[in-house]
Amino acid sequence: MTRVTVWNEYRQERESAEIAAVYPQGIHGAIADGLRDAGFDARTATLDEPEHGLTDDVLAATDVLTWWGHAAHDQVDDAIVERVRRRVLDGMGLIVLHSGHHSKLFRALMGTSGDLKWREAGERERIWVVDPSHPIADGLGESFALEQEEMYGEPFDVPAPDRLVLVSWFQGGEVFRSGCCFLRGRGRIFYFRPGHETHPTYFQPMVRRVIANAVRWAAQPRGDRPTFGNQQPLEPLGGG
Ligand code: ZN
Repeated sequence: MTRVTVWNEYRQERESAEIAAVYPQGIHGAIADGLRDAGFDARTATLDEPEHGLTDDVLAATDVLTWWGHAAHDQVDDAIVERVRRRVLDGMGLIVLHSGHHSKLFRALMGTSGDLKWREAGERERIWVVDPSHPIADGLGESFALEQEEMYGEPFDVPAPDRLVLVSWFQGGEVFRSGCCFLRGRGRIFYFRPGHETHPTYFQPMVRRVIANAVRWAAQPRGDRPTFGNQQPLEPLGGG
């Protein structure tokens, strides 16, 4: 069974009654429940746990990590960011959610700012499948709508995705690359846009389906660890 660690900053749910009412078990609780319903072995980890809940043992026992952070990106310890980054390059899947676009981890893996436009107006978002051949698109139909979400708009300062699966339209006129696949080392990374803390987005069945599909995609088998550096020849070198 695929082992998923659902990481959450878990500050705003404890500080705001409005957000706690939307996510009484925390955003991580809602995401983990959705993944368990989809048949995954999901555990949670949060910022205020020792080592942010991301010890070497936890990471070694994690096939795919999901990441939600917003207000406390700068409080994530650089050594732990580096530990997680290396584990991704070594083959752990990573699903970066919503405001995780500004996390130290995502920016380190992308090499760009992760900047974008945003607006909190509770507007309608329609998410379009632009790559129906991709496994993350399974069961989504051509598009689905979220009645109320924060807007994120282009340009999104990331490298061109290795595969672009989803694009969002917003009521106010902006568009956004909402479902982006990136390959880094042996690791597969998926950025998925929706999930503002004041909306019940992580209970929405299609959003849960995207996250489950993305975990399945990111957990696929992969090749052996490569070796680098100076090499002895594998075959006799000819010549005289
Ligand atoms: Zn947000």
